[in-house]
Amino acid sequence: MAEQLVAINPSTQEPIDHVDVTTKEELLGIVQKARNAQRTWEAMGFDGRKPFFDRLSSYLLEHYEEVARFISRENGKPYLEAILAEVYPSIDVVNYYSKRAKKLLADKKIPIRVFKFMGKKSYITFKPVGVLGIISPWNYPFAIPFSEIIMALVAGNTVILKPSELTPLIGKKITELLDTAGFPDGVFSVVYGDGKIGAELVKAQLSKIIFTGSVATGRRIMAAAAENLTPVVLELGGKDPMIVLKDADIDMSARGAVWAGFMNSGQTCASVERVYVDETIKDQFVERVMKYTKEIRQGDMLENESTDMGSMIDPRQLSIVENHVKDAEAKGAKILTGGSRPADLHGFFYKPTVLVNVDHSMQVMTDETFGPVLPIMGFKTEDDAIKLANDSRYALTASVWSRDIKRAESIARKIVAGTVTINDHIMTYGIPETPWGGSKESGFGRTHSDIGLMEFVEPAHIHVDRAWIKKKPWWYPYDKKTLLFLRAMIWLTKRAKFLVG
Ligand code: NAD
Repeated sequence: MAEQLVAINPSTQEPIDHVDVTTKEELLGIVQKARNAQRTWEAMGFDGRKPFFDRLSSYLLEHYEEVARFISRENGKPYLEAILAEVYPSIDVVNYYSKRAKKLLADKKIPIRVFKFMGKKSYITFKPVGVLGIISPWNYPFAIPFSEIIMALVAGNTVILKPSELTPLIGKKITELLDTAGFPDGVFSVVYGDGKIGAELVKAQLSKIIFTGSVATGRRIMAAAAENLTPVVLELGGKDPMIVLKDADIDMSARGAVWAGFMNSGQTCASVERVYVDETIKDQFVERVMKYTKEIRQGDMLENESTDMGSMIDPRQLSIVENHVKDAEAKGAKILTGGSRPADLHGFFYKPTVLVNVDHSMQVMTDETFGPVLPIMGFKTEDDAIKLANDSRYALTASVWSRDIKRAESIARKIVAGTVTINDHIMTYGIPETPWGGSKESGFGRTHSDIGLMEFVEPAHIHVDRAWIKKKPWWYPYDKKTLLFLRAMIWLTKRAKFLVG
């Protein structure tokens, strides 16, 4: 009998359903099928592929609530948050690329300079990369792989998805959605299992691996991918800072911190994980944060639609959070609220927690907590705030809060992060026009946006010579004419800079 993965509802700890774990032999068959399907899918061209995305979008627009409930049950997030942060942004991604990709993937002329006067022209054509492996986490089990699948498919690739073992059912749901939209057989497949089948996928000589997950797994994947020189995109963890300047709207910043620190129970790569607030407004800010934190309604999102915060994913993630809070407390941090599991809830819940008296000797300020914990620290000068924000192994996103947009923008430029938002946090993941990704241990490569689409194509340069010159001046034999030609080029470079740049 096949090995099985059982999906558990984290809010109730009850099993929902199961999937069969994919064997290595099955995986090899799936890879072959994806390779065969890729050629036909590519040959259809963008116009041939577009109707599939239009049908998918229409279906999702009709069935978004059902998909959101499905996500909620498997992941533990509130159902409204599943619409907000999973389903709506995914529909937007489909619509964005199905409209824009034709233009983005059209041949691009390269304005070559001197050589164009010799009858030459160059352009870039964007080919699909081939068969892509997408390995995804459990925290946004739908939105993350779905947007990457869309970018991959729109560009003519085929995809094999490996969803997290904690949220495997989403693989079935995405398959059902693409089947309903009529996507051809083999264009999209799923392999199920834990890291072992993920590792097999990385070894399977695919054209590229798009990985989202922890730094530790990212390292393993990159090392394994190096064996076959398989390119990788790594979207890894974060420890995102939020800087609140003296002139910030305190009430708005506090509401922002509470939402961006606690949404998805703090299990967002781009959650606010540490807050730096100007000393002069710190007390007022903390008082507002406490007010909004205490108003959070926690519970089973399917029972009650006005739940703000659901459960965490599993006991392992819960214990990481508990250890961070314990470590901070032992080193002198003060827990203003939270700091424990709610006694009246049965799932993997942790109370929204606010900490003060924190510093960078504590794990909660340096390591990814990935839970509903908001540590708040004061700063004296803007330079101190920038130093504190940049004092991290991570560089995914950050935010600056101020009424003076110019000043906030100047600070934003000094922060090392893939995205810095001013007066908001996290939400740019939901704007498909904007790029997503980080640097340092947050990984490399980008998804989303026009730049992100480039990860899903192979730019091929085509160069044409229409001059019909029998012997180009740089061909053999090298002689006086070659020297004359080179001197002319040097002369031009010296005098006619407009020709060279
Ligand atoms: P994880 O690294 O434990 O697992 C991610 C995926 O990798 C899972 O599907 C897992 O089965 C698979 N995997 C594990 N070992 C593997 C191996 N050796 N080879 C191939 N695949 C393997 O991460 P997680 O706990 O699922 O996700 C949480 C992490 O993801 C956090 O660090 C979070 O910050 C990060 N994340 C980053 C982004 C981003 O956009 N940068 C977005 C969401 C989550």
